Amino acid sequence: MTLTAPIPDPEMGEPFLLTPGPLTTSIEVKRAMLRDWGSWDDDFRAMTREMRQRLLAIAGDDGSYDCVPLQGSGSYCVEAMLGSFVPRDGKVLVLANGAYGLRAAKTLEYLGRACTLIDKGDYLPPRGAEVAVALAADPAITHVLAIHCETSSGILNPLEEIAEATRRAGRKLLVDSMSAFGAVPLIAPDLGVEAFVSSANKCIEGVPGFGFVIARRAAIEAARGNSHSLSLDVHAQWETMEKTGQWRFTPPTHAVAAFMQALRMHEAEGGAPARLARYTDNRDVMVAGMRALGFETLLADTWLSPIIVTFFCPADPAFDFNQFYAAMKARGFIIYPGKLTVVDSFRIGCIGRMDAAIMRRAVAAAAEALHGMGVTNAAPPAIALAERAKLAA
Ligand SMILES: *Cc1c(COP(=O)(O)O)cnc(C)c1O
Repeated sequence: MTLTAPIPDPEMGEPFLLTPGPLTTSIEVKRAMLRDWGSWDDDFRAMTREMRQRLLAIAGDDGSYDCVPLQGSGSYCVEAMLGSFVPRDGKVLVLANGAYGLRAAKTLEYLGRACTLIDKGDYLPPRGAEVAVALAADPAITHVLAIHCETSSGILNPLEEIAEATRRAGRKLLVDSMSAFGAVPLIAPDLGVEAFVSSANKCIEGVPGFGFVIARRAAIEAARGNSHSLSLDVHAQWETMEKTGQWRFTPPTHAVAAFMQALRMHEAEGGAPARLARYTDNRDVMVAGMRALGFETLLADTWLSPIIVTFFCPADPAFDFNQFYAAMKARGFIIYPGKLTVVDSFRIGCIGRMDAAIMRRAVAAAAEALHGMGVTNAAPPAIALAERAKLAA
């Protein structure tokens, strides 16, 4: 899969961000930020309106959902969703298998909302059957919170079976689809989600500055007065947008303009299916190349997301992550440290304005970086493979 549009070039002094966001954006998206917008002006209001409609279309809206953009990073939107849709006497079952699930649980603690956790550790997926058991055991649970792609390991969680178990138990599903929406399918009415969140700087390939909540309109209406926070009140933001077309407080105008360009390019590329195909191709080329160097992935192929992939650090004592990072950066690629607790790891993202040709260059850079350190084989230590065997069990 090859991109025809101009792509950023490390020779221009800009490295590729092999990270899960902020990520490498197109020249066109960056250019869209070269003018100022009056936040009250009709042109900007039209942009906000069109943006909401386009996002709803990507979510497969059947007319019963609405989209509420919100200033801040993705975590602000998670907090806004939880504080607005979980009633003060509600209780959330959080499905955690990494940093973002744990962050959501911590957010609920801050909000004073009751929460119970299925914590699968660093990388095991929460399965539908265990969600069903947990829901049957605790009738006080009103909502289930799932992380679509847990970006800390790169695992793509089985959202369909989680949604099915939640629906059967008559509870409501909230989803953090931050790093998946726009590429991995999330058809809101099919899954029956109550609400989900994502942000501008992930699979839609915009710049950071805001995120958005997509929720059943009935749920938004019912959220009046529920939020603990003025600025993170989804209902209040929605009500103002519906009445005036404006954001309640200063909108990130340039980031919105950039996002509109990103949405047009998303559509021109062929929408979410085409984006998924390109990211999958990026992943396959990159993973095959890294494996050929001896690197091993944390996850078996079934659970590998097309978003970001975790690799074990090589066992060779000549390997040093900081040196590896610097050598990759010198060749125009920014990689990402790992987040595993048991063994050393690093991550390589597959999302952003990059194609398979770029991924091949990244693998070549990794080969040179290994060579520079005197590492002849990138195979991981035995303990890493033992960890992985637990996942297969
Ligand atoms: C990126 C991301 C977030 C939000 O992180 P911010 O740094 O607040 O933008 C939340 N959840 C997941 C799964 C993510 O990948």
